[in-house]
Amino acid sequence: MFPVVGLSFCIAPNMTNSTPLIRAVALARRYQMGKTAVDALRGIDLEIQRGEFVALVGPSGSGKSTLLHLVGGLVRPTAGEIWVNGMELGRSNDKQLVAYRCNTLGFVFQNFNLLPIKSAVENVEVPLMLARVAPRDRRERALTLLEHLGLRARAHHRPAELSGGEQQRVAIARALANHPRLILADEPTGNLDSKTGRELMGLLQRLIRDEGLTLLLVTHDMNVARYADRIVHLLDGQIQYIEVGVEEFDKVT
Ligand code: ADP
Ligand code: MG
Repeated sequence: MFPVVGLSFCIAPNMTNSTPLIRAVALARRYQMGKTAVDALRGIDLEIQRGEFVALVGPSGSGKSTLLHLVGGLVRPTAGEIWVNGMELGRSNDKQLVAYRCNTLGFVFQNFNLLPIKSAVENVEVPLMLARVAPRDRRERALTLLEHLGLRARAHHRPAELSGGEQQRVAIARALANHPRLILADEPTGNLDSKTGRELMGLLQRLIRDEGLTLLLVTHDMNVARYADRIVHLLDGQIQYIEVGVEEFDKVT
């Protein structure tokens, strides 16, 4: 799924820089499966500052994706609050959430989620089309992004003609298309070999530093998590502990 599909317009965000970009307060999500309830998240309190890179780690089923989807406005809380960029997502209507995703977010997925019949540049243009950017500006922005990610020569290739690492870089270019503040990534290196994964993490790290972006990344791979400023460990839908200040020399790409 590519979550911004169906978008009809974008509104400029109007938030100040003084508050945390993300604030979860006693955030909970329960899934009701017939008579059985699954508490995917059970009371998350967390603040993430602008410009921070935070990794979410934990065993399968610990609630990582649910937390990412709550921050992405794709899932609604069943209790508590989730604020992003001054907006309480749980109290926002669908139209506001669509605009929020368009304006504020870029998504990166494990399986790249590129449209197979479109070229790299056309894939990057999709969110620009949804944001109603004029065709000529769209093409220019998409090519600039691909160039920035070292893919200018691959712009007219389809995903099947690209390596995994190249496909994920196209997906990152697409995520960056509408100048997001926040990148949400769910296992972005999960389908890449370890060398390509390291290269991609170095690239993401450089991008968030250069562009002043915030990155919230889900992974079960501690080698990937070590690139983050903070590592949030989830267990059974709760924060078990948070690691801070990973040494710079551990982050060598
Ligand atoms: P993780 O990403 O850490 O593997 P998830 O957030 O995907 O964990 O899932 C947390 C728990 O919530 C799991 O027990 C999972 O089965 C359950 N869950 C997640 N999404 C749904 C859903 N749409 N419907 C029912 N249960 C779900
Ligand atoms: Mg998951």
